[in-house]
Amino acid sequence: MNLYNIKHPEERVNFAQAVRQGLGKDQGLFFPEVIPQLADIDALLDLPLVERSQKILGAIIGDEIPTAKLNAMVKNAFTFPAPLAKVNENIYALELFHGPTLAFKDFGGRFMAQALATVRGDGKITILTATSGDTGAAVAHAFYGLENINVVILYPKGKISPLQEKLFCTLGGNIRTVAVHSDFDACQALVKQAFDDEELRRTIGLNSANSINISRLLAQICYYFEAVAQLPKEKRKDLVVSVPSGNFGNLTAGLIAKTLGLPIKRFIASTNANDTVPRYLADGKWEPKATIATLSNAMDVSRPNNWPRVEELFKRNGWNLKDLASVSLTDAQTEAALKAEYAEGYLCEPHGAIAYQALKNQLQPSETGIFLCTAHPAKFKESVERILNIELPLPQALDKHNKLPLLSDEMEADFATLRAYLLK
Ligand SMILES: *Cc1c(COP(=O)(O)O)cnc(C)c1O
Repeated sequence: MNLYNIKHPEERVNFAQAVRQGLGKDQGLFFPEVIPQLADIDALLDLPLVERSQKILGAIIGDEIPTAKLNAMVKNAFTFPAPLAKVNENIYALELFHGPTLAFKDFGGRFMAQALATVRGDGKITILTATSGDTGAAVAHAFYGLENINVVILYPKGKISPLQEKLFCTLGGNIRTVAVHSDFDACQALVKQAFDDEELRRTIGLNSANSINISRLLAQICYYFEAVAQLPKEKRKDLVVSVPSGNFGNLTAGLIAKTLGLPIKRFIASTNANDTVPRYLADGKWEPKATIATLSNAMDVSRPNNWPRVEELFKRNGWNLKDLASVSLTDAQTEAALKAEYAEGYLCEPHGAIAYQALKNQLQPSETGIFLCTAHPAKFKESVERILNIELPLPQALDKHNKLPLLSDEMEADFATLRAYLLK
């Protein structure tokens, strides 16, 4: 598999290099040179998740990784299901939260850990990543205990849910967590600065594990196929998928699935009040504002760093960005959506509720809609209980961590401080 840097197309790497490096020159994103058309999608859809995903990823990655090796990576990563729940006649929920950290980021995080362990070579590796909540947990759990890989995770202090924090800041071992006195965009900017520091990068073998790493995106393609595979055959036409979006990695993966031949008619980019993309699609102006804290905090991103990949896909496929629907919801609208959904008999959480409502707003009578449920309702226990006036039991995975002490360090959003910390 060959990839190029979107900012500097002359920079070319193979899959192993893209996984190890994360980002290209000038913080450019790597993008596959070729996205193959998959033959016989229907036969593919008849296969079980792991077997189908092995075939899909094998077709994309090619012979760079021996088939047996790749198959083992997929099998080790995808150890949990992604069920499709029927909400009403035309609307289905794809539940992506049945992994160890109860969020969809387990798919990408676990596959990336497998990929990196496979292509790593001999040097030292430090994973540095910024999280708005769930990436951190997925990355920490995916890499926990892997030999000779150190993990440092930055997150905005006080801006993620206490439960989210407990899930990844209590592990210790090869996982260090840092509460930064600022917002997610500042954390992300620090990570980017670290990657620009050539010397630092070499000394500690810096690697990012957030959604800019191509291996995470590739893994996420697979659950779009799993969604369609679970739909009754007569519902597979005129399919609309609503994706709750923050950094837009999830949507990028969906668009790649469509490029591979998965029959999805159109996508809806669903956001909270951090609406850089919906405003851009409406007026053509890219004008990020200061990030606003919302109920759907994993989507509190005003400079979505996967956006160049979305544009690249549209350009290469000759698609029109006008066909990408987008919706932005306020917190009040999110609460109303969560209630409406609950009244329909489906318990959700704020991120999934935004995607659900965006779908409801947009879906035509002839269409079938799927919205992505990116986190388990109990991960947002405080808001869900308050909004729905119910009590939610804590799933075992969360309960166990909730009882442990926090091990995080704290830091100002200052690169020199971070640099010294990484070299320590
Ligand atoms: C990360 C996250 C999102 C946003 O996904 P992107 O790929 O960054 O757009 C949505 N919901 C939840 C629960 C998340 O953790």
